[in-house]
Amino acid sequence: MRFQTNLIHGNRADDKSTGATNVPIYLSNAYARQTAKELADIFSGRNIGHVYTRISNPSVEAFEKRMLAIEGGLSATATASGMSAIYLALMNIVQPGDEIIAASGVFGGTYNLLKNLDHQGINVKFLDVLNQETLDQAITSETKIVFAETIGNPKLDILDLESVGKVCQQKEVILIVDSTVTTPYLIKPIEYGADIVIHSTSKYINGTANAIGGMIIDGGSKKYQNEKYTNFETYHKRFRQFAFTAKLKMELGKDLGATMSPTNATLNLTGVETLQLRMKEHCKNAKKLAEYLSTHSKVDEVHFPGLTSSPYYEMAQKYYGEACGGILTVRFGSKEKAFAFIDHLNIISNLANIGDTKSLVIHPASTICAQNSTKEKEQMGVYEDLVRISVGIEDIEDIIEDVNQSLENI
Ligand SMILES: *Cc1c(COP(=O)(O)O)cnc(C)c1O
Repeated sequence: MRFQTNLIHGNRADDKSTGATNVPIYLSNAYARQTAKELADIFSGRNIGHVYTRISNPSVEAFEKRMLAIEGGLSATATASGMSAIYLALMNIVQPGDEIIAASGVFGGTYNLLKNLDHQGINVKFLDVLNQETLDQAITSETKIVFAETIGNPKLDILDLESVGKVCQQKEVILIVDSTVTTPYLIKPIEYGADIVIHSTSKYINGTANAIGGMIIDGGSKKYQNEKYTNFETYHKRFRQFAFTAKLKMELGKDLGATMSPTNATLNLTGVETLQLRMKEHCKNAKKLAEYLSTHSKVDEVHFPGLTSSPYYEMAQKYYGEACGGILTVRFGSKEKAFAFIDHLNIISNLANIGDTKSLVIHPASTICAQNSTKEKEQMGVYEDLVRISVGIEDIEDIIEDVNQSLENI
């Protein structure tokens, strides 16, 4: 099946008993079996089935399978949020003393999560640019993970996935890629050598901002058999390429219980059907708005990887062509002007989110990055005069008119 058909029919499992075409919200914590042996067989792994919703749930499983059909890979695990997906994926791999290399342009929440891992004896090195050279220098025998975003939020730097994938292959380091901003509509990181793909499904996957969730896609890497991943030894022997997911489901995933709720899974399953239609509009509108703003006298700078003025333009062309995502950032010269721009908008909402059908703005320096030092903010591509815009799918004329009347008020 092609992409759009897969969004609707990929691994589709209609309810056989009723014929319902939408997967029911299975609001059941536990699943009864006729005999003690049946339940024991599931617990021991001799048979598969649902036993308890912290571990698995039919609605959640249906969403996991749909995501797997869309993204590719071997197995998918839904989580309570994008942050819990990142935490679980990292901690499923590392042990105290290990090292993670991360792009410094990652999402503020992720930056702080990584920074705080030092409390658990995990050393995180942030690099401004990830490529063959910088990674060759930075990777040591302690390095277990390289973590990056396809397009940094809100730095909007473009990851050279192909070369990073190659280095991680040579060095047998697990590559985890957060593709929240791009979604499988724009790129499938596993095809470039990513071992794990992360989504905050709260954003474009859900699409209408009505359910928080996360997804861990396991590409089925063979790297876990390398002797440096000793904690995977038993899992690799027993589960082969499913080692990562097996360990996740049998250890931290189950222990922490940060699972996606069945209601959210069902909302996401409905939302994802229109992913392609929405992404096309997000990308088209963002490009038009970026072009408009780049000629406006009240704007100092516009950052959008699809503009020739962007330092990431060429890299963006390599991976994304015309469609470079739905996010852009604007600099106004002062915080006061940035605030005035936000305050005078009518249609566009001021809130902490991206990937909604609605156009959204935020001043990252005083909100999502408020906890970070000026130096850290600059590493993340965040400045006092910068506003991030997540361009929605309204009529572009209305978005531009709203932006324009606000700019006139500055
Ligand atoms: C929002 C976001 C997250 C965190 O996801 P939540 O669902 O809010 O926990 C992680 N990565 C990126 C790129 C994001 O935009």
